[in-house]
Amino acid sequence: KKANGKYTVTMIEGDGIGVEISKAVKEIYAAADVPVEWEDVDVTPLLINGKTTLPQEAVDSVNRNLVALKGPLATPVGKGHTSMNLTLRRTFNLFANVRPCKSIVGYKTPYENVDTVLIRENTEGEYSGIEHTIVPGVVQSIKLITKPASEKVIRYGFEYAKSINKPHIVIVHKASIMKLSDGLFVETAKEVAKEYPDVKLSFELLDNTSLKLTQDPSEYKDVVMVMPNLYGDIMSDLSSGLIGGLGLTPSGNMGNKVSIFEAVHGSAPDIAGKGLANPTALLLSSCMMLRHMSLNADADKIENAVLKTIASGPANRTGDLKGTATTQHFTEQVIANL
Ligand code: NAD
Repeated sequence: KKANGKYTVTMIEGDGIGVEISKAVKEIYAAADVPVEWEDVDVTPLLINGKTTLPQEAVDSVNRNLVALKGPLATPVGKGHTSMNLTLRRTFNLFANVRPCKSIVGYKTPYENVDTVLIRENTEGEYSGIEHTIVPGVVQSIKLITKPASEKVIRYGFEYAKSINKPHIVIVHKASIMKLSDGLFVETAKEVAKEYPDVKLSFELLDNTSLKLTQDPSEYKDVVMVMPNLYGDIMSDLSSGLIGGLGLTPSGNMGNKVSIFEAVHGSAPDIAGKGLANPTALLLSSCMMLRHMSLNADADKIENAVLKTIASGPANRTGDLKGTATTQHFTEQVIANL
């Protein structure tokens, strides 16, 4: 916090629609008089000794400010540097990714009253990036699961479940097949659970959770799901689909010291630069960030204005929500609804 009462927050605008949706956030924050000053940083990857590295100014900015809001970063398939998203998560040890998913009042989908929370292990699993060619035509990819990383995300899950008053953890896994790796995740949860006698612990197989979530998501409204990295990646897109798509779902990457908040979606190259992107997911991510900073009243103000705008009908909604509004029109409506 600075002498003028404002907080400096790092802004990584990101690629594709990232530029458009972060502009919307900045305009709405200025109009709402939120006590945040943005520090824009560039995260164009640098290759140093063959390793993907973040520009030092970006690292320094995040370490100084402790919180960042981030737009999506594009990762080309099958070539070049390591994903910058992975590099960010590793650089700041952002070990837990919290992904809430709540029905948007005023936007009808086949599912009502969805209210799920998923916590994704954010540093290892299939995302460890350990892959090699054994012989031409045969590759091996290593799914790395460690006890320390499992313990960390699971303990975070227990604490989080208590803090949001949903004292029930569901570990989503596939230990029936991945006996050692997912088995370790499951066993670690049982151990950590001993420290939390007031939180219920249950286990569910990933395929079963997929089925049940799409049949009746209300079964998950009083629990916090915790799962290994790749499962969390997939299940959070599935959850987004229940409430109206990727334009709506926020997330927080939580570390020991710093936290980076971002939408679940990617850079949406199919609609980038056309003024069609829905900034809601990034706006709701920013509300998670404000609550993390104990700026709850500001978070409520922004969230209420966003929800009111979506509920006001298709003329004020973007195309992903079957509306006709441009990003700019939506932004102006949110400002009018503040
Ligand atoms: P995507 O999330 O970018 O897009 C999937 C679909 O959802 C597209 O049809 C897109 O138009 C739509 N969509 C997503 N966000 C939207 C929004 N705010 N408003 C309206 N429509 C929206 O997924 P993709 O196409 O598979 O990935 C594109 C790039 O993004 C890839 O390079 C990928 O690696 C990257 N990516 C980055 C992140 C991140 O930075 N955290 C996450 C996922 C994907």
